[in-house]
Amino acid sequence: KPHAEDGHALNYVNDATTSSHDKYQDGQKCQNCVFWAKDAKDGWGTCRHPKFADVLVNENGWCNSYAPGA
Ligand code: SF4
Repeated sequence: KPHAEDGHALNYVNDATTSSHDKYQDGQKCQNCVFWAKDAKDGWGTCRHPKFADVLVNENGWCNSYAPGA
């Protein structure tokens, strides 16, 4: 799968710390999101949210469907 680009969906960014979204809070990133599939290789892995079914997301990424859990 291709790597997601900034703006892929849901205000996604590959570097969470660059997000200016109202919901973003320090420390949130794909790597600790409930949708993260924990299969990262070289920093990229699967997000189980349907909006990201066709791409790999960055372990340091973020989108506005972030939910703590992983
Ligand atoms: Fe990353 Fe979670 Fe958004 Fe998926 S749902 S892109 S793992 S923050």
